[in-house]
Amino acid sequence: MKSLKFKNGDELFPIGLGTWKSKPGEVKNAVISALESGYKHIDCAAIYGNEKEIGEAFNEVFSKGEIKREDVWITSKLWNNAHLPQDVEPAMKQTLNDLQLDYLDLYLIHWPVAFKPDVQSPEGPEDYLTPQEAPISETWKAMSQLKEKGLAKHIGVSNFSKQKLEELIANTGEIPEMNQVELHPLLQQNDLFEYCSKQGIHLTGYSPLGSGDRSDGMKQENEPNMFEKTAVQKIASKHNVSPAQVLINWSAQRGTAVIPKSTNPGRIKENLEAARLQLDKDDLKDLAQLDEHYRYVTGKFFEVEEKGYKNIYDE
Ligand code: NDP
Repeated sequence: MKSLKFKNGDELFPIGLGTWKSKPGEVKNAVISALESGYKHIDCAAIYGNEKEIGEAFNEVFSKGEIKREDVWITSKLWNNAHLPQDVEPAMKQTLNDLQLDYLDLYLIHWPVAFKPDVQSPEGPEDYLTPQEAPISETWKAMSQLKEKGLAKHIGVSNFSKQKLEELIANTGEIPEMNQVELHPLLQQNDLFEYCSKQGIHLTGYSPLGSGDRSDGMKQENEPNMFEKTAVQKIASKHNVSPAQVLINWSAQRGTAVIPKSTNPGRIKENLEAARLQLDKDDLKDLAQLDEHYRYVTGKFFEVEEKGYKNIYDE
C-alpha cells in the first residue's frame, strides 16, 4: 500500500481513522484501539466536539513511549466560525490544547463557507459572513502563517470543488497540499481527481462507507447502501474480505487517503487490514461502473444564496 508523498518528503499512510460522530465515552477507546492496532493516521475536527477526549487518548498512548507522536499523522480542521484571519490561530491553538499536541501534521479549512465568529451552527442567513466579508484567500493566508510558525506541518482545504480550488490558487498564488472531500465508488469525482493530480494536490476521501449512522437528521430518502451493491459483495466474496474492506481499498489503491470512522475495535482493525487486499483490473472495472455522483453529505445545509453560498460543490 503506497503512502502519499509530500514535497518536503513527509509521507502519509493512506488509511486513517475518522472521528466524526464518535461519541464522548467511546472516542478515547477508539483512538487508543486504533493506535495500538497500528494506525498511523487520525482525522479530527474542532466541530466534532470530541477533541478533548481524543487528546486524552493521545496523551495516554504517547506518554507510554511505545508509539511516538512523530510517527502518527494527525489532521484537524478549522471550523467555519473562525475564518476571519485574526480568529484562525486562536482556533488552531484551542485544537492543539484539546488534542494535547504542540503541532498538527495537517490543518484544513473545513468548508468554503464562513459563519459569524460566535455561531457554531447557523440557524439562518443572518448567521453567515459573505465571501466579501470573510474572503477565503485571507483565511488561507492566516493558515499559511500557521505553517510558517511550525504549528501545522501541512495545510489544505476540505469540501472544495475544482472551481473553488482554482479561485483560491489564482487569488493567493499558493496550492493547498490536501483537499478532503467525499469519495467512494458511488461518488468517484473523476474530474476533481484529475485536476488535483495535475496540481499536485492530494485527496483524502471521507464517508468511504456511506457515513453509517444517519440519526443526525442528515439521512436522505432512499439512501443507497454500498455494502449491498452486487459488485461490492461479489468482489468481497471473491477475495474473502468484507464489503467495507473493498470500499476502503478502492480509495487507497486509487492513490487517495481514506478515513473510515469506527468506534468498534474489531471493525477498526478490519478497516486497517483492508491495506492487504489487492483489487485486480476486473474488480476496478466493476467498481468504476458504480459511479452515480451520489453524495451522502450534500452540503445543502450551508447553501444560503443571499449570503453568496449558492452551490457548495459548484455542480
Ligand atoms: P464512514 O463512511 O466512515 O462510515 C462510518 C460508519 O460505518 C459508522 O456507522 C461505522 O459504525 C460503520 N463502519 C465502520 N467500519 C465498518 C465495517 N468494517 N463494517 C461495517 N460498518 C462499519 O462515515 P463518516 O461520514 O464518519 O466518514 C469518515 C470520516 O471522514 C469522518 O469520521 C470524519 O473524520 C471525516 N469526514 C469529514 C468531512 C468533512 O467535511 N471534511 C465530512 C464527513 C466525514 P461503527 O462505528 O459502529 O463501526
